[in-house]
Amino acid sequence: VRLLTTLCALAVGIAAAEEPEAQVEKHRYESDISKLRSIVIHSLYSQKDIFLRELLSNSQDALEKLRLTSLSEGSYINLDDWKGNITIEARKSGNGGQLIVRDTGIGMSKSELAKNLGTIAKSGTSEFLNKADDSSSAGVEGSNLIGQFGLGFYSTFLVSPSVKVSSIPPATTENPHPVQHTFESNASGDEFTIYVDPRGNSLLEQGPCGTEVVLDIEAGSGNEWVLDNKKLEELVEKHSQFSSNFPIYLRSST
Ligand code: ADP
Ligand code: MG
Repeated sequence: VRLLTTLCALAVGIAAAEEPEAQVEKHRYESDISKLRSIVIHSLYSQKDIFLRELLSNSQDALEKLRLTSLSEGSYINLDDWKGNITIEARKSGNGGQLIVRDTGIGMSKSELAKNLGTIAKSGTSEFLNKADDSSSAGVEGSNLIGQFGLGFYSTFLVSPSVKVSSIPPATTENPHPVQHTFESNASGDEFTIYVDPRGNSLLEQGPCGTEVVLDIEAGSGNEWVLDNKKLEELVEKHSQFSSNFPIYLRSST
């Protein structure tokens, strides 16, 4: 047993030496992303509640992706005990707090966090930016465009000045011991950071992989309704009526 412990310690030591990533990595958004974020934030201020639709649709996509991956031939993922689900939790503290949306979907690695949330990977995006430029003042127009192009993640900044996304992908042969990372970004500012989640691989308590989005909701911001359970229930009802193959749980804690 001692030998095993020593070996494990050694392995951990080597892994740590190979991956000196305890520090916070700073990234600068591509200029198009900065532009996009500001269009989203400014054209949709009157329909802030779409942020929840966007988060739920991302979670549903991620759950569906994991399910499909596990069905594919030669898959290493065994989903026998998997509970594909989404949890929405309002954590109040004082008059503000945090809204947390967590899923047991496919998750993202460190590089996927940077690529998927920090860069424009979609081919339709430049077209979106051109169209949005032509009609930048019209809120409704803006939201139609968002729906059309699905540029949803940035809508979280409509209600939150600071957004964190923690995520862990499934273990694979190339990456047998994935590490949970956190992407953090402020509504203002051209940068985002990525770091190893100080809580460890906490999402593995719920499943083989997953993602958690944490929105800070500030007291006095006018966005306190985001933490209201009645309102959340109403929004979940409104936004998930067409497309939920997975259960959505609503939880509140104070
Ligand atoms: P879209 O959903 O149209 O691709 P979004 O801005 O909503 O655009 O999301 C960007 C990308 O970030 C998604 O395509 C996906 O790769 C990744 N992503 C966002 N949320 C999640 C999540 N909950 N789980 C896994 N990946 C996610
Ligand atoms: Mg989306």
